[in-house]
Amino acid sequence: MKTHQQSTLLNTNPPSTSELRALFNGRVIAPDGPRYEQARTVFYGGTDRRPAAIIRAADAGDVSRLITLAREMGFELAIRSGGHSNARHSTTEGGIVLDLSGMKDLQINVESHTAWVESGMTAGEYVTATAAYGLTTGFGDTGSVGLGGITLGGGVGYLVRKHGLAIDNLLAAEVVTADGQFLLVDDKNHPDLFWAIRGGGGNFGVATRFQFKLVDVDLILGGMLCLPATADVIASFIAEAESAPDELSTIANVMTAPPMPFLPTDVHGKPIIMAMMAYAGDIESGERVIAPFRALAAPYVDMIRPMHYPEMFPPDQEGYHPVAAGRTMFVDHVHRPEAEMILDRLQRSSGSMAVTQLRVLGGAMARVPSNATAFAHRKSRIMVNLAALYERSDEKEIHEAWVTEFAATLRQSDHGAYVNFLADVDETQVRAAYPGGTWERLAAIKARYDPDNLFRLNQNIPPKS
Ligand SMILES: Cc1cc2nc3c(=O)[nH]c(=O)nc-3n(C[C@H](O)[C@H](O)[C@H](O)COP(=O)(O)OP(=O)(O)OC[C@H]3O[C@@H](n4cnc5c(N)ncnc54)[C@H](O)[C@@H]3O)c2cc1C
Repeated sequence: MKTHQQSTLLNTNPPSTSELRALFNGRVIAPDGPRYEQARTVFYGGTDRRPAAIIRAADAGDVSRLITLAREMGFELAIRSGGHSNARHSTTEGGIVLDLSGMKDLQINVESHTAWVESGMTAGEYVTATAAYGLTTGFGDTGSVGLGGITLGGGVGYLVRKHGLAIDNLLAAEVVTADGQFLLVDDKNHPDLFWAIRGGGGNFGVATRFQFKLVDVDLILGGMLCLPATADVIASFIAEAESAPDELSTIANVMTAPPMPFLPTDVHGKPIIMAMMAYAGDIESGERVIAPFRALAAPYVDMIRPMHYPEMFPPDQEGYHPVAAGRTMFVDHVHRPEAEMILDRLQRSSGSMAVTQLRVLGGAMARVPSNATAFAHRKSRIMVNLAALYERSDEKEIHEAWVTEFAATLRQSDHGAYVNFLADVDETQVRAAYPGGTWERLAAIKARYDPDNLFRLNQNIPPKS
């Protein structure tokens, strides 16, 4: 076992691979090693950064040693859990990646309905393991997303209306701060930090373990419903989703039908709503709640059925690394005029795929006071994610202009943004994630726990006391 003090051995000399190997219990992956190409790859394509090393931490001690080393030597430190950062924050050019994906220990306490889990586990791995007991915690819509990133930003998923955000089910966390200390963080211990990590992202330290509340969710009524996307169907879909009981959470992707095998060939290229629906309640009531959606138009595809909750998270397509221009925002309503505009804009995109994703919020998430956590968008009605996927890097500008103009046209009274879907690091946008005094409160907590902004490769909140 390596100890904390050993990091001082390196002093200010650049760490060589052998020096790094002597320091860490986990694997040190160097540029000349066979695992490097795979290890430097993150979810989003078009990201060609070459870290000096990737350190796959074995334990919290490794995390603390690397933090100490980064502080002493000043190299850029990228923190990675699942590698899905929309802003490509989990890799670095020339710095070191702290890769938590080897830390996946999970301790489930069925009696107390709680689980302690290391932050390198993915959402899919967690929901699969806890489903063995008919229990779960809500994260997002994608199994390969890491618990570290999604939790610290909020976590908006298939149970958001019934059970709130991931952070609404977070009971405690173990965090290694910029000074290398191990802190247990909850309502009673470091409550300021506990408030900040529930939405403030990776600004305050590295979360090595989380304690989550588990909720009873076993069989759900869920799956995909594809409908023709006319302006009326889009607006009615949103109205139905807003008036549905909290048990139902929906994610409606308005897009041009891709040539996917489950879609009839005559639908390819037509505007569709590819909706993911999850009713977390008894199946019979779910059928009644979902019936009006099915009646909006003759569905192209109806795969909604009783299923175990983890079936909502099919495995990712191997080697899928999309390049995308994206914007995230909240809107108050999507009525017929907005639906028309969405269809018009989608049709004007020259991307290989263009999508407007609409997530109706509310329910349990909205019953938490806006200042109770650093995620302050409790009253936001609908989250909108706009994306254009493209292949050629020289087309970037065209697609960025498309999403920028589209977002400006859709904008209504809610100027907030969800930090986990922000695709760049423009401070105005990061501030939009933290409205109503949240930014100032976070900046003061940052000054307390990370005064030198060691954790800066993120949606950064500079320290300010
Ligand atoms: C395909 C896809 C689907 C998504 N769906 C959803 C969704 O349904 N709902 C939703 O809410 N979000 C969703 N997201 C957004 C997702 O929550 C964020 O991208 C999140 O940051 C990913 O977490 P990660 O651990 O995989 O990412 P990483 O890239 O590993 O980490 C992102 C950042 O989080 C911080 N971080 C990560 N782990 C830690 C840690 N242990 N301690 C401290 N800081 C840490 C670091 O700053 C890091 O740069 C989705 C993203 C993608 C790409």
